[in-house]
Amino acid sequence: MNNQSYTRRINERVRRRRRRAAVLTVFFIVILLLALLSVFLVLHFTGRLGDGDDSSVTTEPPTQTQAPAESGEPAGSETTAAPETTAPPAETTAPPVTYTTLTLTRADMAKGDLILVSADYPYVFPATEGHLTLTYGNKSKGYQLGSAQDKLDTRVLAAFNTAADAFLAETGETGLILVQNGAYRSYAAQEDLYNRRVAKEGEEAAAKYVALPGNSEHHTGLAMDLSVYTDGKMYGLDELETYQWVPKNFPRYGFVLRYPASKVAITGIAYEPWHFRYVGIPHAVYMTNNNLCLEEYINTLRAYQADGTHLFVESDGITYEIWYVPLTDGEVTYALVPDGVPYSISGNNRDGFVVTLTLGRQ
Ligand SMILES: [Zn+2]
Repeated sequence: MNNQSYTRRINERVRRRRRRAAVLTVFFIVILLLALLSVFLVLHFTGRLGDGDDSSVTTEPPTQTQAPAESGEPAGSETTAAPETTAPPAETTAPPVTYTTLTLTRADMAKGDLILVSADYPYVFPATEGHLTLTYGNKSKGYQLGSAQDKLDTRVLAAFNTAADAFLAETGETGLILVQNGAYRSYAAQEDLYNRRVAKEGEEAAAKYVALPGNSEHHTGLAMDLSVYTDGKMYGLDELETYQWVPKNFPRYGFVLRYPASKVAITGIAYEPWHFRYVGIPHAVYMTNNNLCLEEYINTLRAYQADGTHLFVESDGITYEIWYVPLTDGEVTYALVPDGVPYSISGNNRDGFVVTLTLGRQ
């Protein structure tokens, strides 16, 4: 009996254990199912699973490509991926710099805004006068004309119109005048002017102010003589205080006072408060700020060559890069300019070229 009751008790305990184990198993299965369900729900509502797409591998790339569009949103767990995904477009927007090689000849050296024309360097006349424009009918309100026949280089006339209008707007003065014969002069016109001056004052006195035919800056169409005509009288710019605006501010428009009193020994020309020369922007600004006449400026630029340091000049907030290219073998030379950057090239009418890049606002 004892044995029977003992085995019954044992069996009962085993049965109870089995029941408890079954209950625990069911409990764990339910917990597991609930856990799986919650994981699915979390993934579904955070967008990790695509609609109707049961492949979690293929849904990863779309969430990455969406990242750049979300890069402007505030911080989140995905924003750390944004810099990586935006990096490749940034690299592609900076294309490699390419260059164009320009071939420059001895004939080209006689052309451009920075050509030196003096007793030592005669002007090389172009075949036609197509680069000139009559001032009459094409001038701005900022000045008067001493002659209806005078012409200037077309670009220089435009620059002068702008500069004169700025002068008028700032000072209210209306007496600025482009004097007769004070613009372009042909070889014959200069010859006539020179001969008349010699007849009047003698050769020595004439040579101080009037260049020999072929050696006058007025041949270029880049030079002009300015005075003041007011109340029926002519005055020099340096005689009237308000007209000091002209030599002071014209450099911003590309013009320099070409023959200052301090440079007579270098230019070989007496002080001419009326004679302005277009050399272009920003050269006029650099020359004026550094007290350099054209002869000196051309010398200074020799220190800035293509493979060395370049000269950087700022004018009205725009930065320019400048360097000099010598005419190496006497007949031809080459200049490299970066593609997509506005540039101009001028001969110096002596021994080479000046390259000017407009870099823009830095
Ligand atoms: Zn002159």
